[in-house]
Parts: sequence; structure tokens; C-alpha cells
Amino acid sequence: MKFVKVGWNGILFETPEDLRLLSERGNFKTGYMRLESENGILEIKWDPIPKRAKTISEVASEFIKQLGKKSKKTEISVRKTKATSVFKHDASYISLKTNMEESVYLWYCNESNRIIICHFAFRSMDEPSRMVVERVMDTLKCHGEDANIWSLLGFSFKAPSTFLLSERKMTVGGSHLILVESKLTPYKETRREIFFQYYSMANLLFKDDYKDPAKWMENNYIKNLKRRYGKLEFQKVEPCRFRRHIAAIQKGASKSGFLSRGKSLYNNLTWYCSKSNRIYSVTVSSHVRKMFFLKHELDEEAFEKLTKEVFSSIRCH
Ligand SMILES: [Zn+2]
Ligand SMILES: [Zn+2]
Repeated sequence: MKFVKVGWNGILFETPEDLRLLSERGNFKTGYMRLESENGILEIKWDPIPKRAKTISEVASEFIKQLGKKSKKTEISVRKTKATSVFKHDASYISLKTNMEESVYLWYCNESNRIIICHFAFRSMDEPSRMVVERVMDTLKCHGEDANIWSLLGFSFKAPSTFLLSERKMTVGGSHLILVESKLTPYKETRREIFFQYYSMANLLFKDDYKDPAKWMENNYIKNLKRRYGKLEFQKVEPCRFRRHIAAIQKGASKSGFLSRGKSLYNNLTWYCSKSNRIYSVTVSSHVRKMFFLKHELDEEAFEKLTKEVFSSIRCH
């Protein structure tokens, strides 16, 4: 069994390659993801810890009650409940028999202020299924990283944990994620973004220019960036190599506003990954909007440092 890393909203674990993402929603605070293979399902759900937190075993018995209400047709029998631990947290383990065989782990992560539930369901809890449960739970990390690893569908990169998922679209043809870090004071707004995008089957989709990232960018992608960021100008393209692929790196800037003045900087890295047949385009940007009487501050050094950290952490195949 080949295992791959999954990193999503500050939760990191390893799953078998054939357990694929089927759906996901939410953000760091509240969210859900479901992975499926032919043999089983893994669901992970996380929510903020309520102010009046119950004990984890109370949460576990509520979970069982809710399951009973939800499924009127299938009979649920609880085989076993026991105390266990997940990534050093006290946790509850529940073993269930429905029309599937199910294992549930629940715990509070005080560090990330979340209650997390991992729910496995298999046709049968045979040796390979048990191995999957064990591997996921042994490798699972729910807190403690200063940079979050975003790893799914064959790509991965790191972003500081202050960057939160704000938009995404995951399709067969490609995906994009937008991570945002924003700070607001009465006269000033600063915002930094990581716009991570790829297109699959690039040799078919972009027959004419997929091998020339700079040309591809100009013909196909700059309009996407303009749609999000308005009038931005890129300086000349610099060809480079990225993980042995031909790549192009570009710096851009934009200005806006009168009474509240805005200034933005952009760094874009675009490349064709021949191994995955994807075109990747990643844009890191930094935006400041402030009242005209404030001095302009856009920390270019920090921006370059962030860009370097993000770009160097990307794995594309
Ligand atoms: Zn934790
Ligand atoms: Zn690659």
C-alpha cells in the first residue's frame, strides 16, 4: 500500500493513495472533508470547542445518539468504546457495526481550539482496513506547526499558519486555492494572499503554449489575475527552472484609490510540470490600503521572504 500526505486546514496525516478526496468544505475553524476508496470512507470533521466544553466521553455518547437518530433504516450496534490518545491528546474511540464496520476517534485539540472527529467506515475491518486506520491515526497532527502544509491531489506547499483558506475550487480539470492573511486597523488594511492554481491535462487544454510558461501566462492567465486584483502590471519575465521544469517568474505591482490609497506587489511563478501534465501558476501578493495621511508602509523585504518560503516549499508531482 502506498501512502501519501494529506494536509488541509492545519490537519496533517497519511492516507493510502487510493483514498481520494470526494468533498470538503469550511475553513480552519469549522470544516469537513471526506475521502473515499472502493473499500472505505474516511470523514474528518472539526468545530470550535464550545465555551462550556463537555468531557470527551460525553461528546462520544452524544455522537452515538446522533448516529442512531440519523439512520433509521440501518441498525447500529456499539461494539466497544474506550479511552485512547491521538497526537498526545486524550481521545475517545468507538467501534461500531452498521452495514459497514466503523471506527470513530474524537478529541479536543486545545492548541488549535477544535474538537476533531475522525470517522472510518469499511466494508469489513480486515487487515488492510486496520492498517489504514492505524496509519492515519499514528501520523495525524492537529496542531503545532508554524507553517501549515497544504497537501492534496498530488501537490503540496507550505504557508504560514496565519494564512487561512478563503476560496477554493477543486475539479478534475484543475484546482485553485486562495489563502488570505489580513489585518485591519481604523486607518489601514494590510492583506497578503497566496493564489495557488493548476490546470490538468495541460498539453490538451493549452496545445499552443503549454511548454512556454511566459507565453502561457500572457495568453491565458493574466486575465484571471486582473479579474481578482484589478489593473496590475508585470515587469519583464524571467525564465528560470523550477524542480527541473521550465518556469517563468514575474514581479508585478498595482496602485489604486485616492483618499484611501492602495499599493500592491505581486510575485508569480508559472511552470509546466511534465510529470503531472499540469500547468501551475502561483501568485503571492501583498496589499496595503491606508488613509492618505499615513506614510506608506509595505514591507517589501517581508514580502520577498514570504514568496521565497512559499515557492521553495512547493511540490508539483
Ligand atoms: Zn492538537
Ligand atoms: Zn513537477
